[in-house]
Amino acid sequence: MSAGIPESLYGLSFSALEKRLLRDDVNPVHARSLWRALYRDLEANLGTRTDFSPPLARWVAANLGRTFGLEGLVIRQHVESSDARTHKLLLGLHDAQEIETVVMAYPGRHTACLSTQAGCAMGCVFCATGQMGFVRHLTSGEIVAQVVEGQRLLREMGEPPLRNLVMMGMGEPLHNYDEVMQALAIVSDRGGLNIGPNRITVSTVGLVPAILRMAQEAQPYHLAVSLHGMNDEERSALLPVNRRWPLAELLDACRVYIETTGRRIVFGWTLIEGRNDSPEHARRLGRLLSGIHAHVNLIRLNPTQGFDGTTPANAAADAFRDVIRDAGFPCTIRQHRGIDVAAGCGQLRAVGKRR
Ligand code: SF4
Repeated sequence: MSAGIPESLYGLSFSALEKRLLRDDVNPVHARSLWRALYRDLEANLGTRTDFSPPLARWVAANLGRTFGLEGLVIRQHVESSDARTHKLLLGLHDAQEIETVVMAYPGRHTACLSTQAGCAMGCVFCATGQMGFVRHLTSGEIVAQVVEGQRLLREMGEPPLRNLVMMGMGEPLHNYDEVMQALAIVSDRGGLNIGPNRITVSTVGLVPAILRMAQEAQPYHLAVSLHGMNDEERSALLPVNRRWPLAELLDACRVYIETTGRRIVFGWTLIEGRNDSPEHARRLGRLLSGIHAHVNLIRLNPTQGFDGTTPANAAADAFRDVIRDAGFPCTIRQHRGIDVAAGCGQLRAVGKRR
């Protein structure tokens, strides 16, 4: 944390909080009521709590704003889709950077799409975040705080809390591995936000060492890997990261991950008209994934200003899906949600950074 900026309370795990209280001569038993205030009550102003024990209240008064902050993602803009189900929050960080978080309030599947970096270094050509470049990694506290903001929004709307998280907002999650894993451990804590690991998906464009690390560490989250091209030439043209970790190396890492964890991988495929959306592409993709425990998730290209690809028709996506299914893989087409507010996959870009 940079000088003068208090460390975020949202970045502390429960056990780290206990240790911190102990170090400050406060009985760590009080960590539970602080944790509940943060994550069950979504308390924004801890200093006003009347239910804290005197030692905890004194600790909060002494530390809040000095050693620890609850900073504060400031909601700079909140736009909702025409069906009022997709909500895009433009959130300001302490250093004036901005990120976006998307909350999708669909019955039974309340999901937040979180950002993990301000900007992104991966440069995927069809992605608005990639087009803006890398600014910085988010801290674990800034990632957790997005979930807190999502929960507050749903509570204000009278909706049930978030059930699912996808790390598919701004940034490449595995490029910010440590902070992301720390944040996910905090949000899945049963006494707090309690979003189960099996309801959390980490997505990557193919950072091979990090995929292998996830496998080695037996991280309990789902993994989604973006493919988009079925040979190095096609894939590198869309995802520059493929030049660093080519397709064969990526698929080898995926096999290791599946073998080690026993979990399948969801492979993302953005359909771009005339480029990778033909039945022949689908047949080749089926062959490429042969023997891999895979689910294929198709995404019809979401438009961005910096890429001139075209969104394929629904019929083309359906035909592609049918070929993949015939090849023996479960295959779904991701629903186009929030496109009217640029909250779809690949469309996130902090508007303040366009200047
Ligand atoms: S698709 Fe993901 S990894 Fe690629 S540039 Fe966009 S945010 Fe980064």
